[in-house]
Amino acid sequence: MARIINICNEKGGVGKTTTTVNLASYLAAIGKYVLVVDLDPQANATAGLGIKVEEEHLNVYHSLIGEESPGSYLRKTSLFGFDLLPAAASLAGATVELVSLDSREFRLKKTLNSIRTHYDYILIDSPPSLGLLTINGLVAAEEIIIPVQCEYYALEGLGNLLKTIDLVRESLNPQLKVAGVLLTMYDKRNRLARAVVREVQKNFPGKVFEAIIPRSISLAEAPSFGKTILQFDPDSKAGRAYRQLAEEVIKST
Ligand code: ATP
Ligand code: MG
Repeated sequence: MARIINICNEKGGVGKTTTTVNLASYLAAIGKYVLVVDLDPQANATAGLGIKVEEEHLNVYHSLIGEESPGSYLRKTSLFGFDLLPAAASLAGATVELVSLDSREFRLKKTLNSIRTHYDYILIDSPPSLGLLTINGLVAAEEIIIPVQCEYYALEGLGNLLKTIDLVRESLNPQLKVAGVLLTMYDKRNRLARAVVREVQKNFPGKVFEAIIPRSISLAEAPSFGKTILQFDPDSKAGRAYRQLAEEVIKST
């Protein structure tokens, strides 16, 4: 039975997609069977894995709206043991269509329940907003990883996210828990970044992953080659940091 982990922060550009894809690649390299669910109409995870999905191709949108068996939506990535439930731009429309559907918050959960036994880990890449797509992702998951960029205003908006998590827990998904906060885009030469690390550790005692993801050009470039850091620059500091994160995630249950 897969552990289902949602990589979530309503703030844009904090490293959600980068973390989802690269954490998944190291989990797969360690021998785990992994599924990434691209729940973002921007489809960054899908594109970054080098997978082309036209609007009309089956994607996570159809699994939310339709009734077909989810197996037909899954795509293999170039890494062994690493599959993708892709997104396409059509997913943007799902937010509107979902509103009028039965059990609209539980559509993704239902999809994942039917394929959960095939995987050890299912990672959900959330969009930067708190709409119905994100809620579907939070209802389907048991755990959340919150990436936080090591910058000024890092903690801004986190209060909102934590409130949403509480609401989801109370009404839709009592099991939901925060697995950890992940510091991303860390530049050790930057005094402010070091202050942010301390601030986040103070606010989330015992909840911050020891792995800290450095700012890295390789990480930013890899997706344009359709590659993960594991394939693009595995010996980089960023590659080693995502490997450390994968090991920490496996150890934490
Ligand atoms: P969105 O909210 O738009 O979905 P996101 O939270 O998924 O964004 P990413 O897409 O992972 O964030 O990252 C935002 C940008 O920063 C991307 O261009 C990505 O390549 C780059 N990036 C992510 N992590 C790092 C890093 N550690 N070092 C350098 N660049 C990074
Ligand atoms: Mg993203």
